[in-house]
Amino acid sequence: MEWRIKTLSIFMKRFIVRNKNGININGKTIDDETRCVHYHGASDIIAIKFKCCGDYYPCYSCHHEQAEHSAITWTKNERDTKAILCGKCGNELSIHAYVESGNQCPFCNAAFNPNCKNHYHLYFEI
Ligand SMILES: [Zn+2]
Ligand SMILES: [Zn+2]
Ligand SMILES: [Zn+2]
Repeated sequence: MEWRIKTLSIFMKRFIVRNKNGININGKTIDDETRCVHYHGASDIIAIKFKCCGDYYPCYSCHHEQAEHSAITWTKNERDTKAILCGKCGNELSIHAYVESGNQCPFCNAAFNPNCKNHYHLYFEI
């Protein structure tokens, strides 16, 4: 019994749901700017809303580990969907605005990690 409670509390701690400007962020976040156990560099400050569940996660690994379903990517004609959250200011960007942002938040000018580009295909059609 004691073991179960302990396991549960560890589990709860790892999957803490954070709230940024009223938006829930799932996954293994480590701070309030959406950095997670997988990506936590200075500029790793965005969360992505997944089409499959409509939930925000800091990265695809967080989604993979927590969601009990496969990820579905946004299609090309859904680029106007607000699916990117800036972890600095908490504003939501459309996929189009994010791709065209030059790796800088259009609201607060915070720098986004340019290497995220290598993973675009895991979130939306390119
Ligand atoms: Zn999902
Ligand atoms: Zn992650
Ligand atoms: Zn911002």
